[in-house]
Amino acid sequence: MTSLHASNHLGERDGLEEQYLTCQVRQTGYTASAVDDPRPLTGEPLALDLVNTEWIQDGERRDLLAEPGGIDVWLHAAGHPDAAVDPDGLRAARDAIRATAADHGDAAALNAVLAHGRLVERLGPGGPERMLEVDDEGWRVPWLAAQNLLELLRAGPDRIRRCANHACILHFFDGSRSGRRQWCSMAACGNRAKARRHYERTREQD
Ligand SMILES: [Zn+2]
Repeated sequence: MTSLHASNHLGERDGLEEQYLTCQVRQTGYTASAVDDPRPLTGEPLALDLVNTEWIQDGERRDLLAEPGGIDVWLHAAGHPDAAVDPDGLRAARDAIRATAADHGDAAALNAVLAHGRLVERLGPGGPERMLEVDDEGWRVPWLAAQNLLELLRAGPDRIRRCANHACILHFFDGSRSGRRQWCSMAACGNRAKARRHYERTREQD
């Protein structure tokens, strides 16, 4: 357990934050329900779910955050349907998370996002409380996404991976027991790679 393990009181006051401030590294129970989320990979921890708002479709880079209503689609999928969010802050968090996920040494951009918020501890009427204070409400979700990457780095930096298909830019946190996950999904990239290897093998035999 880390120092960010949240008290129940945080959860009672703000259920949305509680799930990020606990030690959970996998998001569970996120279903976009009525909102149509076009992304090929959903359900990764918040930090990587934000990175996965960009993907390659038919050889072109698609950016959900740049599409009309796309930010709302993502906020809904991420469990923050009613959040007011600064679009530039969200993009800054996404860029910083991607850079940090690819190169663990690149801390400045991520720390710049994290500088917009701080956790405050105090004793409230119901017991210990931990609150996230942000300098602007629009930075709350970007901050939570950046902070989630810290949780993932604590849980297993080598399990933060980019899909092994070089043409794919999706990221995931490998929560499998074996720790051998290579693909964003078997259906999207794994099977294609298998088919290519099979094709190359059979061609070599000709
Ligand atoms: Zn992939």
